[in-house]
Amino acid sequence: MEYLKGENMTKQKILKVKNGDINSALNDFFKELLKSGKLSALLLPQNVPSKKVVFPVLISNPNKLDTNIFSPLLPVSTAKMISKITKFQPSDKPIGIVIHPCQIRALIELVKLNQASLNNIIIIGLDCLGTFPLNVYSDIVKKQKPLDIIIDDFKSNNDKSEQYLRSACIVCNQPFPINADIIIGVFGMDITKEILIEEVSDAGGKIIEDLKLDSAKDVIKREKQIKDLIDNRTKKLESFIKEKTKDSNIETLTNFFDKCVNCHNCMNVCPICYCKECLFDSAVFDAEAYKYVKKSESKGLFKIPNDSLLFHLGRMNHMILSCVKCGLCEQGCPMGIDLMDVFIPTAENSQKEFKYHPGKNPSEKVPMIVYREDEYVEVGEK
Ligand code: SF4
Ligand code: SF4
Ligand code: SF4
Repeated sequence: MEYLKGENMTKQKILKVKNGDINSALNDFFKELLKSGKLSALLLPQNVPSKKVVFPVLISNPNKLDTNIFSPLLPVSTAKMISKITKFQPSDKPIGIVIHPCQIRALIELVKLNQASLNNIIIIGLDCLGTFPLNVYSDIVKKQKPLDIIIDDFKSNNDKSEQYLRSACIVCNQPFPINADIIIGVFGMDITKEILIEEVSDAGGKIIEDLKLDSAKDVIKREKQIKDLIDNRTKKLESFIKEKTKDSNIETLTNFFDKCVNCHNCMNVCPICYCKECLFDSAVFDAEAYKYVKKSESKGLFKIPNDSLLFHLGRMNHMILSCVKCGLCEQGCPMGIDLMDVFIPTAENSQKEFKYHPGKNPSEKVPMIVYREDEYVEVGEK
């Protein structure tokens, strides 16, 4: 299977939306896709029966579809789910995965780290309008459909919904899919009338070739809208980083993690943290009572658990070059610590340093696993 997608000529098709009902049009599209027999299953975001949240489901019965793929919620890492499904043995028949751009990037990183396989995986990438934190989403859904909020905002080209977005989404300058086989696009479209279905790879083309879709009359100009979005978000990202790093030192960092209860949930939900046995979950930092007392005596006191800052620094050290800035760690923190304030600047700066773009080019090796003789000469390495 060709990994680096999106470099060939793409074919644009149109999915018509009747009476502004986006979900109904997409539901019919996915139903036809499953009925075609070309996929063994589809992994996609779907309403739970209570409709309170949207979760990824692996679905093979077309009659069970109740999709809500553009609803602004990313409850778990889809990349992590695909790792679970494909790590031991890839599927012998294609599985379609409907996935947000940050999760495609995470998936590509997991493939590079031998934690997932793209064999027989058809990546159906979404243009992303952003997602709300789980608690915000489940509050809003009691009064109105979160999808309506995000679509109204998109249509009227304003950013009222920014008040609800996760901080990672506010500064996300890559909300469009790369390395997808098929793109489900909204940028450049009036989504309440038409949705773009773009064949990017040959494999993607074969999957949707028999579906009843209209051909796009003219080439749909997505570039301008995407470029404006990238420019706008990059400015926001730069000022976010400037703001969050202006007083950074070891003391502010220690204070930042003051509330941390060392639950490691940020690690458990992170798509990039894949180790089965984490050093920080082991007994390595446990010691005899007299050693604790000695530490206390040397400073007069010390905070317990004592290894939380070490945990964050160790975790960052291991995964920051592959961090896709999806913000799932922040969403998963029970103490409401704004982890993106530290992870986004650290990821941006270290990735810039290594000229590394996680999730972009599947053949670009993760710097942590590449040895270069001339590395660190500027700091005295010979
Ligand atoms: S981080 Fe970007 S791609 Fe991921 S959910 Fe937010 S806006 Fe979408
Ligand atoms: S550290 Fe946080 S932002 Fe980075 S990949 Fe992991 S969950 Fe996403
Ligand atoms: S999820 Fe929050 S409280 Fe738990 S270890 Fe991570 S930062 Fe600390």
